[in-house]
Amino acid sequence: MAGVGGPRPLAVEPVNSAQQATLEIRTAVEPELVFVRSLRARNYRLTLRKDGVAVATIPARGSEHEARRFVDSHRDWLERARARQARKPRAAETWTVGTAVLWRGELQEIRVATVGERSQVCVAADVFRVASLEGDLRAPLEAQFARRAKIELPGRAWELAAETGADVKHVTVRNQRSRWGSCSAGGTISLNWRLVQAPDSVRDYIIYHELMHRREMNHSDRFWARVAEVCPWWRDAEKWLKRNGGLVGL
Ligand SMILES: [Zn+2]
Repeated sequence: MAGVGGPRPLAVEPVNSAQQATLEIRTAVEPELVFVRSLRARNYRLTLRKDGVAVATIPARGSEHEARRFVDSHRDWLERARARQARKPRAAETWTVGTAVLWRGELQEIRVATVGERSQVCVAADVFRVASLEGDLRAPLEAQFARRAKIELPGRAWELAAETGADVKHVTVRNQRSRWGSCSAGGTISLNWRLVQAPDSVRDYIIYHELMHRREMNHSDRFWARVAEVCPWWRDAEKWLKRNGGLVGL
């Protein structure tokens, strides 16, 4: 599988707890830092979780003492990563009428469309049915966004596949937590439903990106040259994604 964003040794990335031994060592002195022992890890690693907690990974044969030294030698990086995280706009945790949410590339207020038996809200020009206008609207609305994505995204992907002549077998729309899209060796393009929340130009970039993986299954210079050919605005799109991923909960 190839996707947007590759493995980076020191990056803000979600920690997949299934790959870790679950023992988290937390200290009172520094509550925003936890140590996790991993049987798979070969090296000491430091990542910053979305909740602001720094996770230091201790490899199978490593020690907490060494991990602390590793963390201390990467304090500057951690500070910068925290500052970067703080600057990023984030989606509201709970959504109610009046909350601004990202929709088709713009922050739009959730407004009441109709009340009563058919509770409906609108976000910009789109109307969505919700069971009730009370309580947190995030889960029901995101489910509606995902439904809309399943209708809209495959069509666009097939359109761009035809335009570029990329050999695609299937297009699926999924609920991916850490990537925008992926392309399998068998020719399946998977797209994150949250792309309906992004600007059209960004959505198209992700599709072009995955389509070009049908030609180059890597992120080599040759791959990026192909992307640039079909999607000259790819750098701007990448910038938007880095800056605004938090607005869609990525
Ligand atoms: Zn990629």
